[in-house]
Amino acid sequence: MIHFVGAGCGAADLITVRGQRLLEQADVIIYAGSLVNPALLTCAKEGARIYNSAEMTLEEVLSVMFDAVAQRLTTVRLHTGDPCLYGAIREQMDALEKKGIAYDYTPGVSSFCGAAAALNMEYTLPDVSQSVVITRMAGRTPVPERESVRAFAQHRATMVLFLSTGLLEKTQAELLAGGYEPDTPAAIVYKASWPDERTYLCTVSTLAECAKENGVSKTALIIVGDAVRQSGYARSKLYHPAFSTGFRPAKE
Ligand code: SAH
Repeated sequence: MIHFVGAGCGAADLITVRGQRLLEQADVIIYAGSLVNPALLTCAKEGARIYNSAEMTLEEVLSVMFDAVAQRLTTVRLHTGDPCLYGAIREQMDALEKKGIAYDYTPGVSSFCGAAAALNMEYTLPDVSQSVVITRMAGRTPVPERESVRAFAQHRATMVLFLSTGLLEKTQAELLAGGYEPDTPAAIVYKASWPDERTYLCTVSTLAECAKENGVSKTALIIVGDAVRQSGYARSKLYHPAFSTGFRPAKE
């Protein structure tokens, strides 16, 4: 059995209870060493075989999994944040399915959630934005043209950009060309939930400069949109006394 597990975005105690239990029981652990907190490995059982996938190819990862299955060992494949975002899990799952190997998937706290926590921020403020665009600039992995940052920027929704901190001049230009006003608030969250977490507030027009001044060029998320201001919103209907819900009648 192979267990895909989301490690959470940094702090070792942000893994789920289920994920930690699986980690404690695993005979083989393959972790994404570039971003998974190595402190999580201290809960591995004695004698567990530990591999860092940052130094491995897909074929090597699969070969470790296949060997473990042949020896009837349990494997945890530990991915950063939640594996569903930029996690390259589909190709692993497909290879396992081809061989008839069983697997399951335990989610984790994605860094876009960790970043909101770092900023004490609600992405979806009534009357400000009710949508979150999660995207990235094209790098070595291309982005379909219809999903360009410029195209999404037209909506001026809350936008969270992964994998783009090294391309901020271009990102900023795309955001502006797409339709965000230059003074739209923006945030850079470096290493959300890690001990060396840092957050910076700026505007769309000062993103690149802000990252440069503070020496941030990787392991960060960019959050853009009026919601970053965290003001000018309408109070929630759900908790309004005049509003009935299935759990509570209106009080006015
Ligand atoms: N599956 C992961 C994302 C992997 S892609 C998740 O759910 O978070 C790797 C990118 O995620 C990094 O380049 C960075 O943009 C972002 N990232 C991962 N961990 C982060 C953290 N703790 N703080 C800020 N950004 C992070």
